[in-house]
Amino acid sequence: MRYKALIKVLLLISFLSFASFLKAAEIRNGQLYLEVLIEADNNITLRPEKESESTINIYESDLPVCRKMNGRLEIDLIKTDKQACWGILSRIEPWTDNSEGILSETFVWSDNHLELKKENLIYADTSFVCRDSALAYARAQGISDKMVQYIPLIGSTVKITTSRREKYYLETPLRIHSDYPLIINNHKETYSGDFYLKEIDNRLVFTQLVYLEDYVAGVIPYEIGDNAPLEAMKAQAVSVRTHSITLLTYNRHRNDGYDLCNTTHCQVYKGKYLINSNVQAAVDSTFNQILIINGRIADTPYHSNCGGHTDAAHQIWNSQPLPHLLGIPCISGVDSLDLTQEKQARQWIDKNTIDPLMSSWEKSGMSWSHTISRKKLANNLGLNNIEKIVINQRSVSGRIIDMSFYGPEEVRILGEAKIREVFGGLRSSFFYIDGKNNSNRNGKVEIIPDGILNLKGKGYGHGVGMCQSGALRLAREGKNYWDILSFYYPGTQISTDWMYYE
Ligand SMILES: [Zn+2]
Ligand SMILES: [Zn+2]
Repeated sequence: MRYKALIKVLLLISFLSFASFLKAAEIRNGQLYLEVLIEADNNITLRPEKESESTINIYESDLPVCRKMNGRLEIDLIKTDKQACWGILSRIEPWTDNSEGILSETFVWSDNHLELKKENLIYADTSFVCRDSALAYARAQGISDKMVQYIPLIGSTVKITTSRREKYYLETPLRIHSDYPLIINNHKETYSGDFYLKEIDNRLVFTQLVYLEDYVAGVIPYEIGDNAPLEAMKAQAVSVRTHSITLLTYNRHRNDGYDLCNTTHCQVYKGKYLINSNVQAAVDSTFNQILIINGRIADTPYHSNCGGHTDAAHQIWNSQPLPHLLGIPCISGVDSLDLTQEKQARQWIDKNTIDPLMSSWEKSGMSWSHTISRKKLANNLGLNNIEKIVINQRSVSGRIIDMSFYGPEEVRILGEAKIREVFGGLRSSFFYIDGKNNSNRNGKVEIIPDGILNLKGKGYGHGVGMCQSGALRLAREGKNYWDILSFYYPGTQISTDWMYYE
């Protein structure tokens, strides 16, 4: 039988007992806490940084009793016979006291505020042991892939082994609290406070429940450095906070069991590791401030260095144009040029825009060069050879966003990120290829490459929104954080009244 892998199990009402763990972010005492991924692995080791400060409190979901454990803990998932874990969502209703499906709590932006929306998820009676069998079944029934969702297993068990080799068997999800810094697996950084440990898709997921303001402070050092001028750091604090709320409402890790991951996919977060008094001052002095535009949360992307002119979100991400992300001249002198034109883009790339006050990190985005052999480039594109390269389009910041490579056949690459990748990891796609070039019949730039291609470029990152190098420059010139934010996100306003809670 085609679907022999599927088993039929009624989804039990007992799902309700763990339903609250499906949600991630929480509001405590009127403050927003985000659930951030720290580690996902088959086993998790928790080690107190100092042996003398070693009490770790562990709570099972159904038991109010806290177990206190000391020293190093090794946590392993006990493999049990898998029950159904993939379901097909059949309908969603508002949550009431009598609801018997699965409670889903998500944050949504509504009426100028962030609200907690409670819904009752009702799944079809059929459930599946793996995603593929659920997808195959859904497709055969004409049901959209989106309706196939992961449902955490009830009560997976973990074995916890202490440093004295005592063994405990506990039922997930677990809430873990430590007042003292913990080292998780082989992370360099330590974390303290509240954590969750759960089983998602046959793996242990260890998350930290972080107060929004502490999360913002934890992200800033990885974004703008821990010794940036205060006003630049404050601008970064507001953009990180706003971006975090936007990511929360996107729900892109909903099936993973947390709100945000700790890598560049969301924002890099490594706990309190690099927070110093300047970072803390930047967060405290912008407490609860986010940017809004036309009654909605403003998308606030940011990047290292625009190269001279920031970019338009719709050109870079092929999205709807956003009024505050159309691209602005960042460095004076660029406003008289049209960087979508090859000649003017080259002219700007060749201009020296380095200031002696810049850090080496800022300079690295102001001017760079890169070489790649024609053979290697062809290889990256899956071509035998490259006879001709055509630049089809540059964005408003001068970034190449559409490029064709001609060998035996044409390979067309769209998007700045992919273009950076095929050339071997460029800082940006705002570059030109040195050597002979001419305009073809359609007015596009054509390059006949030599054996080695020499690239010259400016910029670091996608170029949309706030330019961190520019924010540092403006802060050094005496501008305040609101001058910086309103420069890079024109038309936005600061709001502190954005969270709705009863
Ligand atoms: Zn992520
Ligand atoms: Zn810039």
